[in-house]
Amino acid sequence: HAKRGDERRYATYLPSMEEQSLAVLNMENDLRLALAAGAFELHFQPKVSAETGDVMGAEALIRWPHPERGMISPMDFIPLAEESGLIMPLGRWILRDACRRMVAWRAQGIAPPSLSVNVSPRQFADPSLTETIERTLEETGLPPECLDIEITESVTSGDVERVISTMAALKAMGITLSVDDFGTGYSSLNYLKRFPIDTLKIDQSFVRDLMDTKGKDAAICATVVALGNNLGFTVVAEGVETADQARFLYEKGCHMLQGYWISRPLPAAAFTAWLAEMSEPEQPAALTAG
Ligand code: C2E
Ligand code: MG
Ligand code: MG
Ligand code: MG
Repeated sequence: HAKRGDERRYATYLPSMEEQSLAVLNMENDLRLALAAGAFELHFQPKVSAETGDVMGAEALIRWPHPERGMISPMDFIPLAEESGLIMPLGRWILRDACRRMVAWRAQGIAPPSLSVNVSPRQFADPSLTETIERTLEETGLPPECLDIEITESVTSGDVERVISTMAALKAMGITLSVDDFGTGYSSLNYLKRFPIDTLKIDQSFVRDLMDTKGKDAAICATVVALGNNLGFTVVAEGVETADQARFLYEKGCHMLQGYWISRPLPAAAFTAWLAEMSEPEQPAALTAG
């Protein structure tokens, strides 16, 4: 019987527990080697003003071009890097590379006002984080005002006083703080009151179904935008893929948009070209017509 045969064949291809942990080990080892070989790269995605379309910032997003597996998503290796502790040296590399890119764009006169770097919970809990950031800014020559740190709500699950003092130290340097994936974690309202943050990023899961007829995600987006505005935060929507979503968010008072509708994350060279094109002065209509 063909069906049963297929099932049995499939079953033999299910990786055993042993093979699974071996795969994780291999991946961890690959991560270590990739870091030593300088094999990671940062891609960059712009954040634009919802009102004018001006480039207001960019987010650095790590990519791992793997020789056998192709481009590996950060969702598949950041958790492993966190577990194994490799996120610490990897995080330092990310920060340094991001800052150096910004310095180069500033020298070319095409830099966005600020660049965002994602910092994972384990990095944020590390007592040497503020010192690492301070040293990296000094060594690269990037003004602190040009750096934004994105953290998720899960950093708040640690020692609250400690989290607040880390945030305060970063703020004192002149760095801005964004809460990423807002609305997907815990304790939102309490920490909005207590933590010295600048920006809320509405999670893309709410933006994705914004135009659904049931209207729940539209209500959530509108409410988060209003909340952010009332508390004096900048509100960024991530995962904006359509003009309808962009218009809705703008009309509700969302300040910035990020997503495929504006640009996909681009490799450094392509993003440099994108920035250069965006910063070209607009041609007067009379010259471009005809
Ligand atoms: P995130 O920080 O929330 O980043 C947004 C994710 O949404 C990115 O996925 C981005 O490529 C994707 N995205 C942007 N616009 C759109 C859109 O219009 N539609 C859709 N469907 N997706 C969009 P990516 O690059 O795969 O990163 C996934 C997550 O991995 C990030 O979520 C962040 O949590 C983590 N990550 C990425 N780079 C770093 C890093 O350098 N350090 C750390 N610690 N985490 C990172
Ligand atoms: Mg982010
Ligand atoms: Mg996000
Ligand atoms: Mg996310």
